[in-house]
Amino acid sequence: MRTNVSLLVLYLSFGIWFAQCHTAKEFPSYPPNPTTNPIDSSIEWIKIKESVWIHKSFGSFQGKTYPSNGLVVLTNKGVVVIDTPWTEPQTEELIQSIQTKFQKQIVFVIVTHAHDDRMAGVSSFQKRKIPVYSTQLTAKLAKENGYGIPSPILDIQTRFSLGNGSVEVFYPGPGHSPDNIVVWLPDTHILFGGCLVKALEAEDLGNLKDANVVEWESSVKRVLSRYPDAEVVVPGHGNWGKLDLLRHTIRLLISPNH
Ligand SMILES: [Zn+2]
Repeated sequence: MRTNVSLLVLYLSFGIWFAQCHTAKEFPSYPPNPTTNPIDSSIEWIKIKESVWIHKSFGSFQGKTYPSNGLVVLTNKGVVVIDTPWTEPQTEELIQSIQTKFQKQIVFVIVTHAHDDRMAGVSSFQKRKIPVYSTQLTAKLAKENGYGIPSPILDIQTRFSLGNGSVEVFYPGPGHSPDNIVVWLPDTHILFGGCLVKALEAEDLGNLKDANVVEWESSVKRVLSRYPDAEVVVPGHGNWGKLDLLRHTIRLLISPNH
């Protein structure tokens, strides 16, 4: 009997330990709770592949601090940046870091919708004569919101080739915002979902000020059916993962109190 009790205690201890490890690994705390003000801190770099990095910056929304993701795509003919960091000083730092870290020129920037976490740093690129591309709708909304004026050359679907790399943008319909686009990297099968896509650790839909919660699900489904072979999915905020981020977003839309 004593042996059975000991075994039971052992099993329980193991169970609790396993649950803690599992929770810590699968669902890191969100948003993070750093001791210094992260908005003033440096850009963080997360390498997905040799040629594709996440640039992560921090900003505040309704008094809370959140991380925000953009991408840096390296080719043998230069660099493509997807979305600016959340502030102008962070964007200045990003531009300098790209030069020192990779010794390559930034050829163009794509912004994925007209909110400050995507395009607060547009002028930092434009004053260096680096073009910033968007859809017509994003350019119109950006002008109305005072975020600068990107070049509205992107269509519902536009593909760029640059040296040994290519980048495709796709507008799936409204969701987080009326103008949100996603970016597909066909060479590495990486999908940048931007704010249309929520991270697995996100428990709600975030900023709904300009959202269309009726159309959002259909828009995510269009992305799912267009890029079924995506291996990595990067959300606008939080940890990157796989296609289950899109399914998680749909779950949040179907039952917002999930
Ligand atoms: Zn947004």
